[in-house]
Amino acid sequence: MSTSSKKTFYVTTPIYYVNDVPHIGHAYTTIIADTLARFHKLAGRDVFFLTGTDEHGQKIEKAAAEKGLTPKALADSVVGRAQDLWKALDIEYDFFVRTTMEVHEKGVQKLFQRLLDNGDIYKGEYKGWYCVSDENFLPDDVALDADGCKTCPDCGKKASVVSEETYFFRLSAFQDRLLKLYEEHPEFVRPQSRLNEVSSFVRGGLKDLSITRTTVKWGIPVPGDPKHTIYVWFDALHNYVTAIGFDWNTERFEKFWPADIQLVGKDILRFHAVYWPAFLMAAGLPVPKTVYGHGWWLKDDTKMSKSKGNVLDPHVLLNAFGPDPLRYFLLREIPVGQDGNFSHEGFLHRVNSDLANDFGNLVQRTLTMIGNYFGGEIPAPAPETAEDAKVRNDFDDLKGRVSGHYGACALNKALEEIWTYIGMVNKYLAENQPWIMAKNPDLRPRLARVLFQAAAAIRGASYLVYPVMPRSVEKIWGFLGETQKPADILWETLAFGDFGPGRKVGMPQALFPRVALKDFLAEEAATPAAAPAAETEPTTKGVIAMDQITYDEFKKMDLRVAQIIEAERVAGATKILKLKIDIGTEQRQMIAGIAETYAPEDLVGKKLIVIVNLKPAVIRGIESQAMLLAAITPDNKAVVPFFDREIAAGAVVK
Ligand SMILES: [Zn+2]
Repeated sequence: MSTSSKKTFYVTTPIYYVNDVPHIGHAYTTIIADTLARFHKLAGRDVFFLTGTDEHGQKIEKAAAEKGLTPKALADSVVGRAQDLWKALDIEYDFFVRTTMEVHEKGVQKLFQRLLDNGDIYKGEYKGWYCVSDENFLPDDVALDADGCKTCPDCGKKASVVSEETYFFRLSAFQDRLLKLYEEHPEFVRPQSRLNEVSSFVRGGLKDLSITRTTVKWGIPVPGDPKHTIYVWFDALHNYVTAIGFDWNTERFEKFWPADIQLVGKDILRFHAVYWPAFLMAAGLPVPKTVYGHGWWLKDDTKMSKSKGNVLDPHVLLNAFGPDPLRYFLLREIPVGQDGNFSHEGFLHRVNSDLANDFGNLVQRTLTMIGNYFGGEIPAPAPETAEDAKVRNDFDDLKGRVSGHYGACALNKALEEIWTYIGMVNKYLAENQPWIMAKNPDLRPRLARVLFQAAAAIRGASYLVYPVMPRSVEKIWGFLGETQKPADILWETLAFGDFGPGRKVGMPQALFPRVALKDFLAEEAATPAAAPAAETEPTTKGVIAMDQITYDEFKKMDLRVAQIIEAERVAGATKILKLKIDIGTEQRQMIAGIAETYAPEDLVGKKLIVIVNLKPAVIRGIESQAMLLAAITPDNKAVVPFFDREIAAGAVVK
């Protein structure tokens, strides 16, 4: 296993530029960090997870001036955008650093002074091509354009020559020590391919870095020489040590530093893998264990960026699906080091196939059968057959491998393996056919074992998924009657089938509703949804002319007796009612086009027939999770056939 026996774990994201609107790319880095933090907590480590915002520099100074605000007021007004997104994504960071915090500013000045004192910072004159947009001098190897100017290779804007008195960091003195670091600790830069890029850059020779500006006022002043402002990278990179307690919470700083993994987009890897360790070496501080340069999410094959106008707003997906499908998709789709192309088709495919079909259905079916056959109690199982033992043994093996994958940041591998196991459990159920066993009293002990095994597999597999989808897994554990939360159980003590006696399972609700692409895109376009024609405009037209269907086609419909628990009108709609129905195994809500024939108060308690396996539809912003059967009068009114004698909700209709 690649996870060490170290008792602490410190993970960081880059600090995001406060004036940027957070998009899928920011969400991706932060979701990786959150998943790693949650895994290492399960593994028993004391975890610190840092994220935050970069709030200094010329760009925010300009943006604030345009709005007539101070830079700090602008930062204060927009920092909530990042914090709100992290909340919506269930990101559990330990500290949110802002580079305008006093502890950060003081820490940076202290480190600056330390380097000035030991000669690694000196004053000089700098002249070079400077990109105002990126606040960065261009690399020397950028060629002159035809007009004698240079163009910024990062943003494509024209650069200008800047000459000024500046403080330099003696980066050139660190070439050998950096190369030695890469050689002795190849895990310092991951993935491996990026280490090669970084070390060949350093081998090409390092020039001293200009780290202050006199032209920029919005930033941290140089101690004792306040006309100079400390330049963004020297300021920003040090957040990783100031936030954790450098010079203000020494105990915590010494406990967690050096960081175990610092996640960065590949575009800022050079700053983190060259400048950052050099700054730390100069200050006499240890360097992080690993700087991980992850790939980009591309949209239409180009990097998402505000200037390109192809930024995906994560809130659209979050509003429609909640956090877990997005967390799952981003981590499952690609290895952390590679680029991925984001498409709604790809996203929905994962949601429908992996989450709704494979995982959601397994939970739903298993719990429904335990409800129907064992009164909702996880049964005491008969002895295992070899086939049952395989479900348990495979889980134990899986748990070991998944731990290794999480530890190695191979998150897609972890999920891939867990889903292979889920597929195996689905196959185990399909082959054992517990619904057939249930008809034969002699097979009851066997039925108990099969359903016990399936419930134990669900409990175990969902625990392994917890770092990626905490909210859904807590729900599943709730359905299983677990009183503990997954986060309360240590990885090493989690045992297969470790249920208490007589565990009462809950009624499963749709965990991951299937969503059709066209429905999703229609929703996303935010057109106010109208009720489907079949429900708002009942019609007798075409009945006789309809095509014949086979019995198999008919059998695909899951028709059930449902009891109406609640009925209410929908604001602004005259034809539809919102119903809450009990279908025996669970309660659902649905929209029914019967408001012209029935008053809501006349419906409560009535039993009728509904189709329960029709894809959910969203009608007037309300999800309708079933459809009822009704006869249509010549003037298009719906008449519902109610049952005239006692029949249990959930009874099959065929
Ligand atoms: Zn630029």
